[in-house]
Amino acid sequence: MDIYLYNTLTRTKDLFKPLDEKEVRMYSCGPTVYKDATIGNMRTNIFQDVLRRILKYNGYKIKHVMNITDVGHLVSDGDEGEDKMIKSAREEHKTPLEIAEHYTKLFFDDLKALNIETPEIICKATDYIPEMLEYVKELVEKGYAYEASTAIYFDISKLDKYPVLSNLNIEEQKAGARVEVDKEKKNPYDFALWIKAPENHLMKWDSPWGPSYPGWHIECSAMSRKHLGEQFDIHTGGIDLVPTHHENEIAQSKGVCGKIPANYWIHGEYLLIDGGKMSKSLGNVYLLKDIEEKGYDPLVYRLLCYTCSYRNKLNFTWEGIESTSKSLARLRNGYQQNKAGKDALNEEDRKELDRLETEFHKAINDDMNMPLAMSYVWEVIKYNKKSPEIANLLLKFDTVLGIKIDKEEKNEIKIPEEVLELVEKRKKARQEKNWTESDRLRDEIQNLGYSVKDTKDGVDILKN
Ligand code: AMP
Ligand code: ZN
Repeated sequence: MDIYLYNTLTRTKDLFKPLDEKEVRMYSCGPTVYKDATIGNMRTNIFQDVLRRILKYNGYKIKHVMNITDVGHLVSDGDEGEDKMIKSAREEHKTPLEIAEHYTKLFFDDLKALNIETPEIICKATDYIPEMLEYVKELVEKGYAYEASTAIYFDISKLDKYPVLSNLNIEEQKAGARVEVDKEKKNPYDFALWIKAPENHLMKWDSPWGPSYPGWHIECSAMSRKHLGEQFDIHTGGIDLVPTHHENEIAQSKGVCGKIPANYWIHGEYLLIDGGKMSKSLGNVYLLKDIEEKGYDPLVYRLLCYTCSYRNKLNFTWEGIESTSKSLARLRNGYQQNKAGKDALNEEDRKELDRLETEFHKAINDDMNMPLAMSYVWEVIKYNKKSPEIANLLLKFDTVLGIKIDKEEKNEIKIPEEVLELVEKRKKARQEKNWTESDRLRDEIQNLGYSVKDTKDGVDILKN
């Protein structure tokens, strides 16, 4: 069955045709490992995982590369500011290597909890310095780069077209000068390929231009070329990467070999929190562990991501998580009922189930339309007969969904530590007959989403 994917490069849903009939080559921009990954970052990883699973569902083998950025990503995403790794190392009184190891481990823990398949190749930027240097040298030799006092810059005026991926109007931007631009840049949108390191810089390598370090964009170009060749099929990332990082990866690739590196550029939209931005100042930066600490299976979040297209903004609320957790339980119970089901399926049932299977397949192949695909999953769950054959169909769907539909739901819920402490305090208050304090604690527990019921044996804690 044909697969269609919305391609940022063409701004249309394109028919997917891989360069090699059997194996899809795909590159995803991975995390910069300087801080905890948020559930927003994880939304991007979930959509990338769904894409790989859909390709596999359609019979393709996958060679998927994801990088780990442990140097060169500056605070601004462009050429301004400190390296994110070094800033974090300074703030946490650790070395950049310790920071990288710590956050890389946490990142992979989150992927595992979300049942995200590990890409075939994971590459850490600092392991590819020779490949990056080689790339920059080629660009200099071909006349696409020049040396300035602080960096080796890419000269965008040498390209036939820049930008190709985004709607940036660089003429307008030039006039408005979005940021303080290095006066040595020939064009305001020239960007650093290689950055000369100041005296006490923590991460630097020898190069023809003295001690220095790579720019963020060259990392992905060098690593993708190394593992996937000059041209491959799919390049993915979050929507924010379009105007700078991905635009510049394309520029580098065109400079070196005259080609756009990937045929399909797929971008995932942002996760919003209570309708707005997730930010430290608003105190609404959520990590996957916050969801787990409230007693939810992390896969509830994965299922929540299927409530809208990866190309639309998704709004996160705790109410949404609560109702999705009920949906996940219903899906899993539906699977178990079918596994134990004794109904015999006749010709007509099989025809209807085949239809639902085809509709599910069409939906996932239509630019990963997961809300539509889920509507067919629900039709199968609600089917008026229960049979192991239907359970098997649900397992087949789950190779794409990745929600562990065959996991047995335990009825007991994991009560967060915070709630347990309040219940304990309330018990004490009641023993001391301090009813005002006991009521106040009951309200506090209520606010955390739980209620207490006093019984003759103690208290029952219930999820609201
Ligand atoms: P950061 O480490 O915050 O710069 O994020 C790394 C990448 O994760 C970004 O480049 C985005 O592609 C993605 N990302 C960050 N925040 C969100 C969000 N709220 N929703 C979806 N993706 C996000
Ligand atoms: Zn990248």
